[in-house]
Amino acid sequence: MSTAPLPATAVIREVGLRDGLQSIQTVLPTERKREWIRDAFAAGQREIEVGSFVPARLLPQLADTADVLAFAKTLPGLKVSVLVPNLRGALHALQAGADLMILPLSASHAHSLANLRKTPDEVVQEMRKIRAARDAAGSQTLIEGGVGTAFGCTLQGEVSHDEVLRLMQALLDAGADRVSLADTVGYADPASVSRLFERALRIAGDRFCCGHFHDTRGLALANVYAALQLGVSRFDASLAGIGGCPHAPGASGNAATEDLAFMLQSCGVRTGVDIEALLALRHRVAAWLEGEATHGALWRAGLPRTFNMATTA
Ligand SMILES: [Zn+2]
Repeated sequence: MSTAPLPATAVIREVGLRDGLQSIQTVLPTERKREWIRDAFAAGQREIEVGSFVPARLLPQLADTADVLAFAKTLPGLKVSVLVPNLRGALHALQAGADLMILPLSASHAHSLANLRKTPDEVVQEMRKIRAARDAAGSQTLIEGGVGTAFGCTLQGEVSHDEVLRLMQALLDAGADRVSLADTVGYADPASVSRLFERALRIAGDRFCCGHFHDTRGLALANVYAALQLGVSRFDASLAGIGGCPHAPGASGNAATEDLAFMLQSCGVRTGVDIEALLALRHRVAAWLEGEATHGALWRAGLPRTFNMATTA
């Protein structure tokens, strides 16, 4: 079997400030978040998810999302995204002028009811309202529908690919500009990624925008590579792999940004990221989060002598 060439470039969307921080106890001060964003931008990252418009009592870690977003918007060329659980959150995102808002939908009915207190189809209705609000406001904010628990879930177990794809299509029909798939709990493997993403790409075409893999069982980078082989060229990642899984104590978070950048650039896929600068930032973020688990491999060993930053960044 032959495979298509890998994409020439890929985007690493930093989600550590949202997916990472929401899953750990430490509340990072706003000033530290600004420093993280500023230095990630300086290291070449151009897409950052800065927080989530959820009530502060639910996620005190992300209570300063509006302030953090306002700062991020001052960096020229940075695409600032934010998670919105519902229409109310979307109205905040529109008001704040986010470049992108992501509405998460859990394809597992059990997970959806437990976490969002809505069925997946009720979330599709929310997408419809969000699209109407965006259009009424004449806003440029893009809307992404993120289908989570796409490879299974700790509550329900199996989630069928047919159901995942039905809901992805429903989100597009309800007005999502683009869609993405997330392995929320680290159940995916490269073969299942190939099977599901291949079908997703056939449905959504270039409106399929991103793969989101948790490294709960150590397969996040392998899963990225499987998606990369199909031409997917945007991936979520979290600096130092921070985050976790509420259902698996001690589990790691998303793919580590620095390891992902290293893998992509080693494969000749340009990311625009300066890995040395990213490692320096990782060092500081890990110190700010002292006592929290951090993950990843590159920071322990450093870049290999054979790695040529100049030709791969
Ligand atoms: Zn996630």
